[in-house]
Amino acid sequence: MTMGYRRAVVEAGKKMLHSGLTMETWGNISVRGRDRIYITPSGMPYDDLTEEDVAVVGLEGRVLEGRRQPSTETPLHVAVYNARPDVGAVLHTHPIYSTVFSCMGEDIPLFIDEAAQALGDVVRTAGYALPGSPELARNCVAALGRRANACLLKSHGAVCVGKDLSACFRTAAVLEMTAHVLQLIRSMSGTFHPISDENIAAMQEFVKTRYGH
Ligand code: 13P
Ligand code: ZN
Repeated sequence: MTMGYRRAVVEAGKKMLHSGLTMETWGNISVRGRDRIYITPSGMPYDDLTEEDVAVVGLEGRVLEGRRQPSTETPLHVAVYNARPDVGAVLHTHPIYSTVFSCMGEDIPLFIDEAAQALGDVVRTAGYALPGSPELARNCVAALGRRANACLLKSHGAVCVGKDLSACFRTAAVLEMTAHVLQLIRSMSGTFHPISDENIAAMQEFVKTRYGH
């Protein structure tokens, strides 16, 4: 089981890098085991990572296993797991269009069907704090609230949360697509039509109970 979590983190690192959700060594990834988290090491190239490079940290943030320094954003990951019992994986990305909105400090509304289905709530921007700081961790938890599957980190990037890594990747893709569409609408001096709260709730219920296999 332990190796399963490590492998999942290593594979997710390559996927994040090669799907354009980050560049170089930025971003970080974790999954929750029973009483611990498995997290990417700090500042290592994703293509070179092996299972032995994955760090294991307790839910109070103490390093339990591993020869590498855990991600500098370990306080953020730990804070999210402690605040949200529904969360089993955290994906911190640095994608272009989401980062544009994080720089502007703007919320991303659920104005596209996929966004209404996947993002859980309006995507809010967490107030600026230095990378790796306890303040950034607190701001991120506040921006996620009880229901959102993603938030933006001011002038930095995005955080996607979910029951597992594939849910996080779905959220990250939808968030980036939504931010891209919003940017195109703005660049064409257009506006979007909001989806009603009632229709958002209907789509969320459909995805939870009837969509897929
Ligand atoms: P780490 O390499 O320490 O995980 O930091 C990357 C990052 O994106 C910090 O916000
Ligand atoms: Zn970052």
